[in-house]
Amino acid sequence: MAKKLVTPEVFRKKVADQSDLFLITERAQGVYHEFLPQGLRVIKTPKELIFPEWEGVYRFSFQDRSWKVWEIETGDFSPRFLFLLPCEARAVIEVLDGNFLQKDYIDKNYWQRRKNLHLIVLGCYTIPKTCFCSLVGGNPLWRDGRSLFVLPFQGELYVENDETMLFGEGKSVDAREEETLATREEELKASLPPPLPSDFPQKLYAHFDEGIWKDLSWRCINCGACTFLCPTCYCFDLSVEGRLRGLTLKTWDSCMFPRFTLHASSHNPRPTGKERVRQRVMHKFSYLPLREGYYGCVGCGICREICPVNWDIRETVERMAKYLG
Ligand code: SF4
Ligand code: SF4
Repeated sequence: MAKKLVTPEVFRKKVADQSDLFLITERAQGVYHEFLPQGLRVIKTPKELIFPEWEGVYRFSFQDRSWKVWEIETGDFSPRFLFLLPCEARAVIEVLDGNFLQKDYIDKNYWQRRKNLHLIVLGCYTIPKTCFCSLVGGNPLWRDGRSLFVLPFQGELYVENDETMLFGEGKSVDAREEETLATREEELKASLPPPLPSDFPQKLYAHFDEGIWKDLSWRCINCGACTFLCPTCYCFDLSVEGRLRGLTLKTWDSCMFPRFTLHASSHNPRPTGKERVRQRVMHKFSYLPLREGYYGCVGCGICREICPVNWDIRETVERMAKYLG
């Protein structure tokens, strides 16, 4: 793995000179604004680039007494580089890729966008107050080993995996610097709260019917804001626009909405906030880890920041972990 040190001035200039190529998430900009030029395109969450708020899936038309159906293809995307925090990168690589690029099914339009989106993981050298990544197996310097990685180090920027020299040639990292970096990383990880117990998903699953869910959920008003800003939430709805001619739309949806599970028979298996909040927690902390081996939450804390009534997923999970013993 190529490792180098680049001065902040060179780094900023290289990004400024190729600014059309770069995008940044709002959270990454909050942490790294001093190292980056002004004017980069800022997005709220990485998912909006690869799993857009809405898109057409197919067109249909009734012509000459028969139905004609065409798939809507996304088309080609030019390569882009996205600056994002470790938790946001983990949301893309583990959760979104895990869902849309499965062994037996690949979402073509997702892949069209994803294959040209290169992630530049910006290590968190200041940790946002609302974050809790270590509880779900992450850490402020998490990276997958293949993506570009950047971290301020001794007045310069440490860069990993810049095969295309996006940030210039830089200076190679010597053995002493490498050791200092590794020690710092170990110390940082050791200072973080430990992960949830490994049997937490199983225990949570076994306590689906506990009365405590009512107490944990009453505050939530089911507005859905947390779902839309969550970098890992990927539920969508399919709706048909038009009768004899039209298209099928895929749009973001939220399990927090009362009609999300409403059946055509008018039966609703999740009729109150209790069932909907429980679903949000169970899906992320029990069903996904049991089925796929990873949590559906990366501990970014954005839902804690934006919830209008301060419903707090960390508090909920920690209360549940204590309750389950
Ligand atoms: S947890 Fe908060 S943001 Fe999420 S649906 Fe409930 S009230 Fe809205
Ligand atoms: S902390 Fe909230 S917004 Fe972030 S991944 Fe977990 S559920 Fe989603």
